[in-house]
Amino acid sequence: MVPPSQKNTIDFDAAKLQRLGFSPRKEQTRPVSLAQLRQRLGLQLQTSLDAERILDIFYRELQHLVPVDSLGYQHSSSDLRLDIGQQANHSATYRLSHESEYLGELTFRRRQRFSDQELAQLESLLAALMYPLRNALLYRVAVQRALRDPLTNTGNRIAMDQVLGREIELARRSGQPLSLLMLDIDHFKGINDEHGHSAGDEVLKAVATTLKDQLRNIDMVFRYGGEEFLVVLSATPREGAQLVGERLREAVEGLQCVAQGRAVKMSISLGCATLEAGESADGLLNRADKALYSAKRSGRNCLAMAV
Ligand code: GH3
Ligand code: MG
Ligand code: MG
Repeated sequence: MVPPSQKNTIDFDAAKLQRLGFSPRKEQTRPVSLAQLRQRLGLQLQTSLDAERILDIFYRELQHLVPVDSLGYQHSSSDLRLDIGQQANHSATYRLSHESEYLGELTFRRRQRFSDQELAQLESLLAALMYPLRNALLYRVAVQRALRDPLTNTGNRIAMDQVLGREIELARRSGQPLSLLMLDIDHFKGINDEHGHSAGDEVLKAVATTLKDQLRNIDMVFRYGGEEFLVVLSATPREGAQLVGERLREAVEGLQCVAQGRAVKMSISLGCATLEAGESADGLLNRADKALYSAKRSGRNCLAMAV
C-alpha cells in the first residue's frame, strides 16, 4: 500500500480546467477569434471518445464564432445519425474524409444564409474535428465488435448479459411483460458430420439471418452457445412470445440450404419463458433452458412453454 502522502495525484479542479480551455457548459456565447476557437477545440475534442459527445462539443463551441441553428451528422456505413438543434432553411453540407477514409457527412443549418467568410471559417474548424471524430469512429467499431459474434453477426454473451439486465430492469419499472426464447438447432452435430464444418457454419449463419429477418428488433438476437441462440422479446407477454417462437420455428424449417449439391435439412427446438415478479436474469434463463430441454425430449422441431 502506498501511504496517502506519497500518492501522485494530479488534481484538475474546475478553475484549472477552465484556464486550459475546458470550460463548463455556458448558455451565453462569447465571440472568439478563429485561431482561439481552433485551439480550444483542439483541447476540448480530445476529452471524449464518444462520437455523439464530440459532435455535441463541436456544435456548442461553434456558436462562439459561426452561430448555427442545427448540426446534422450521418455515417452511412454505420447506424450513426445525429441531429442537434432546430431545423432551418439554409444549409451547408460537407462530406468528411481523411486520407480517403470516409468519416461521414456533416450538415450545418441556419435561418440566415452563410456568408463566404463563415463557410471558410466552418471549413477551417472542421480540420480540428477530423482526428477526434476518426478516433471516435474507430473506437465505436471496436466496441461494437466486442459485443458481436463475428460468424453470425448476432450479439454475443457480453451483449446478452447487458441487454437482459437492462430489459429486466425496464420491465420491472414499466410493469411491461418480458419474454425469452431460447433455441437450439436440432441434430447440428449430424449436419457437421454429414456436410462438413464449413457447411455447419453456413447453416448457423442462415439460421441467424432468418431469426433477424423475422424479428422487429434485430438487436435482440444473441448467440448463446455453439448452435444456441437467445431472443429477448421486450413488452411481449407469454402468448405473444409463443406465436413469435412458432413463427421462427416454421421459418427455419422452411429454409432451403444446399451443401455440395445436397439439401441440408434443419430445424430448431425452442423454450419460452416470461419474466415473473422478482425473478433474476439467471432464474429466467434457467426456466427458458428447461423448457428447451423439454422441447428436445418431446421430439425436437417444436416449442415448449416454461412452467
Ligand atoms: P440436439 O438436437 O440435441 O441439439 O443435438 P445437436 O447435435 O445439435 O447437439 P450437440 O450438443 O450434440 O452438438 C452441437 C454441435 O455443434 C457440436 C459442435 O461441434 C457444433 N458446433 C458448435 N459451434 C460450432 C460452430 O461455430 N460451427 C460449427 N460448424 N459447428 C459448431
Ligand atoms: Mg443442437
Ligand atoms: Mg446445443
